[in-house]
Amino acid sequence: MKSLLVRFFLFSLVIAACSIALTAWLASQATTGAIRQEQGEALATDAQIYDGLLKAAATHRSWAAAKSEVDDLARTFNRRIALTDRNGKPLLDTGNASSPPLPVNPKVSVDPLNVDSWLKPGAGKIDPRAVGPFMLTDDEHAKLRSYADRLLQCNDKITIVEQPNRRPRLANDEPGNLSQWEDCTVGDQLYTLTPTETAAYAELHGLFKGCVSRLPQTYRFGPKDGPIPLDWEITTVKYSDPPVAECMDTARREQLRPWVAEYAHAFITEPTGAGPQTIDLSTTGTKQIILVALGILALAGFASWITATQLVRPIRALTTATRRTAEGDRTVRVDGGAGEIGELAKSFNAMSEKLAETERQRQAMVSDVAHELRTPLGNITGWLEATQDGLAEPDPHLIDMLLEESLLLQRLVDDLHDLAQADAGTLRLHPEPIALDDVVEQVVNSQQNREILLRAETTPVHLSADPVRLRQALGNLVANAVRYTPPGGEVVVKLFQEQSNAVLEVADTGTGIAPDDLPHVFDRFWRADKSRSRRTGGSGLGLAITRHLVEAHGGTVSVISELGRGSVFRISLPL
Ligand code: ADP
Repeated sequence: MKSLLVRFFLFSLVIAACSIALTAWLASQATTGAIRQEQGEALATDAQIYDGLLKAAATHRSWAAAKSEVDDLARTFNRRIALTDRNGKPLLDTGNASSPPLPVNPKVSVDPLNVDSWLKPGAGKIDPRAVGPFMLTDDEHAKLRSYADRLLQCNDKITIVEQPNRRPRLANDEPGNLSQWEDCTVGDQLYTLTPTETAAYAELHGLFKGCVSRLPQTYRFGPKDGPIPLDWEITTVKYSDPPVAECMDTARREQLRPWVAEYAHAFITEPTGAGPQTIDLSTTGTKQIILVALGILALAGFASWITATQLVRPIRALTTATRRTAEGDRTVRVDGGAGEIGELAKSFNAMSEKLAETERQRQAMVSDVAHELRTPLGNITGWLEATQDGLAEPDPHLIDMLLEESLLLQRLVDDLHDLAQADAGTLRLHPEPIALDDVVEQVVNSQQNREILLRAETTPVHLSADPVRLRQALGNLVANAVRYTPPGGEVVVKLFQEQSNAVLEVADTGTGIAPDDLPHVFDRFWRADKSRSRRTGGSGLGLAITRHLVEAHGGTVSVISELGRGSVFRISLPL
């Protein structure tokens, strides 16, 4: 969890998942809403068109006669309405010659004597607007209307409505209640059947009786055989026995059939023939979408801010630390926590540490160099001044002394130069195939000395190396061994092969080195005995140079020593 990468990954994943989920939810909400609304509208429109077609069919003897009404419907609802008979023969079409072919299946069938109750909820089987022979003549209508008006004058609280056959009647009122207005002298005149109605009822009664007579004996007597209580508003006649009720329906259909338009299939399509209108989401829940989008934005922004702050804090600390380091402060350390930034902080701390160490070494080196130069230079200056003042004679002895001092200086400067080259990486090697036993012989011969037994034990070893630099490295070790071994002691230089390495060992029986000092012997200007001068001991650069030279050859140098018993320096070079 501490890893920057993992945190970034998880963070992006969470934000993406939230956005996707919310967007999907929003889209589904908006789409569902839009589809529901669209479907509802389409359904309502279809129901209204269906109702209009039913009315047209119920009040006209044929579709041709109802054409203007159907045209009006098509115009009002901006639909193309086409009607065919059962066999697909066109009856009427509000489309024109360029209209596309009709769909395979009609939307609905239109028959005022058999109403589709799904599109027109609550409708009975026979549309009440199909009145046929019951339609009052103008005279009859005027007469009944005048009765109704008289009734209205008596009592302005009542409402008069007209039935589909234009007969006026009291709204929501049974005829019997009229008795309370007897003084109005209208009486039952309003409910007396007109000649038209009488004739129509007679015809219907005849048809009904004919049907009932064909029913089994049980249905043919009793109160059901009396006058027909026909209510225009209630299209199902209140005959409780289904077969008798069916007989009434059959009789009515038989009577009305010639008065209404024929059964037809209705095709209701878009005027252009295109499919259903595309759903427009733009207006649906726009406010909701904006709100949710803003919410996601705020959430993502907040989460980003928190994460970014957490990320940036250690980076800022690092920046400040780097700036202070650049200004020379070597004590700054950063705590970057865990993860990648933590690693960076650790690297920075290590770098600071190294810088401080280098700084310390540089300062020590400068002071050491000054110290080393001071003594021989002081000597040379002192003797030269004494000579100038006439206190000393420039005799051969003095000149020898001055020469020795200047040679010391020369060697010190050479050593420093070698180290500087090693530091800068410009120490040039000139490798060539050499016999290492020859190098050992040369070094041992050049360092022979009467007080100490110095000998070599070699086996022939050949490798590619810079002979001059190897002689210098080995020479430093042998010189030290000789220097720190008291008279009568022994120094042995061994050369042998160990696995794929050539090993040079310089063993002495000298003073040895204290365990505490061992880790420092290869450091620059380091000397176990601080009081030793260049003259008596060395500058403290010999082993440092040896290590550089060996490492430049790809080898290693190490030491084992015991105080008072002697030391063994060991150079290992890859073959
Ligand atoms: P120096 O010129 O002083 O010898 P080196 O770098 O060669 O400088 O050696 C550093 C120090 O390591 C010496 O001053 C000495 O104290 C110690 N040293 C080196 N070689 C030996 C040895 N063979 N026996 C004991 N001490 C040694």
